[in-house]
Amino acid sequence: MKAPKTHNILSPEYECMSRDAIRQLQGERLRKVVKREYDNVPIYRERMDAKGIKPEDIKGVEDLRYLPFTNKTDLRDEFPFGLLAAPKSEIVRIQGSSGTTGKPIVSGYTQNDVDVWTEMVARALVAAGGTKEDIVQVCYGYGLFTGGLGAHQGATKIGAMTVPMSSGNTQRQIMMMKELGSTMLCCTPSYATYLGETIRDMGIDPKKELKLKSGCFGAEPWSEEMRGKIEELLDIDACDIYGLTEIAGPGVAFECLEKKGMHINEDHVIPEIIDPVTEEQLPYGTAGELVFTTITKEGMPMLRYRTHDICVINAEPCACGRTTVRMGRITGRTDDMMVIRGVNVFPSQIESVIVSVKGVAPFYMIIVDRVNYTDTLEIQVELDGENFSDTVSDLEKIRNEIAEKIKSVVGISAKITLVNAKSLPRSEGKAKRVIDNRKI
Ligand code: ADP
Ligand code: ZN
Repeated sequence: MKAPKTHNILSPEYECMSRDAIRQLQGERLRKVVKREYDNVPIYRERMDAKGIKPEDIKGVEDLRYLPFTNKTDLRDEFPFGLLAAPKSEIVRIQGSSGTTGKPIVSGYTQNDVDVWTEMVARALVAAGGTKEDIVQVCYGYGLFTGGLGAHQGATKIGAMTVPMSSGNTQRQIMMMKELGSTMLCCTPSYATYLGETIRDMGIDPKKELKLKSGCFGAEPWSEEMRGKIEELLDIDACDIYGLTEIAGPGVAFECLEKKGMHINEDHVIPEIIDPVTEEQLPYGTAGELVFTTITKEGMPMLRYRTHDICVINAEPCACGRTTVRMGRITGRTDDMMVIRGVNVFPSQIESVIVSVKGVAPFYMIIVDRVNYTDTLEIQVELDGENFSDTVSDLEKIRNEIAEKIKSVVGISAKITLVNAKSLPRSEGKAKRVIDNRKI
């Protein structure tokens, strides 16, 4: 059952402010956070001193560009507490990055930071149609990873019945989903696909036997085509939710039921898009690297944090009534980008092709190697168990269709290997879909 297209808004006083009012609020909060960083965090003071900037020089959002950037390496170098801007005794929570790319990093939260983060996720759930009548099944992992606790806190805040399943144990998840009548789902999009597949394998008809209506899916890149697949498999509305540990966790930005980009919680963060090479600000509407400055965080605020995520920001008003700017899908991380035979390739481009082809399942693996000094790209794609056809000509047709589309979308040719249904690894959290043997 799809969610009725409601446009409930949890905090219209912030989510629907005029653009002028948002900018003014951001300016006020920015001035405070810059002073806090300068007074409490040695590396920010050193970097601002080196640039000859004093906190008083930052008068509003237009002065953001004079501030130094923060990088993931700073979090590693200052691990664990070097970037705290509040006394350690004020920190009530530590969360850490899942370490998708490299060593883990941690962030410290004051009670107020936890409350702000909770509010952000609650806004997201409300935007996806959530109310206190809902039963929210959280199957993001609980622990240092922000997904589980983040979704949990948000669901509790809206008064929903919150089911802290954490990730894994898929058959049990589905049994609970059915017996409790869960109406909303929070997990990674790759786990949502796996759940959808297992539901079918167990002979359950989601339309008749489940009560799911919508879900907030994030923590990893996914394509518009994958959204279609998840909505079909689970018979729900699938909304995108974005976040990162360094800034808060999930809920930094979220989609409403219009599903046309994620509203950024601009009363808590200021987004910028920059050219990752020149580090210059780019205008809205241009793809570039997303950079965030937190303006309400106390424990570990971040000035101009470089996310390495690539997207476009759109400032057009949304039909839902929110006035906050929206970020488009993350098309990739700069550190996920593969350069194959000189061409920039993002896994999400490959995903969008595979999920649009009939006869294959939404599970794939990308294998990059180097043979005789030349890069090779192989894409393993699973055949769809239900629509399985093993006539040689059908398989050949599927292979050719994928190969041609990859060539036209990505710009390079790839070897397409069709593999048996259910033979590729399934993901319960963030999917790992690239094996790059060139780095070894
Ligand atoms: P890690 O860097 O270990 O993955 P996090 O768990 O904090 O750490 O994950 C944050 C990152 O996850 C983001 O920077 C982004 O690359 C990715 N991410 C989170 N939500 C989304 C989303 N909705 N779409 C695409 N990527 C996302
Ligand atoms: Zn909207």
